[in-house]
Amino acid sequence: MTLDDKHDDATQPPLQVACPECRAKVVWTTNNPYRPFCSKRCRLLDLGAWADESHRIAGEPAMDEADLDVLIDRLERGGQQ
Ligand SMILES: [Zn+2]
Repeated sequence: MTLDDKHDDATQPPLQVACPECRAKVVWTTNNPYRPFCSKRCRLLDLGAWADESHRIAGEPAMDEADLDVLIDRLERGGQQ
């Protein structure tokens, strides 16, 4: 399977996907730089949501105390040797 559609513009029916952001039908063509999104707005919204999510996860104390101890121990050894 190839997404190279230079040769089959005329012969293949356009592939349609649902915009991941607003579920609008999006025709998947090389003319749509925002695919699979329907628009720049939706792409930015999705990227923003993703960035927001990762920030939120990064800000949470994901490590438990044992992990922190290992990390601190490693940092302290690195500083002293
Ligand atoms: Zn959309």
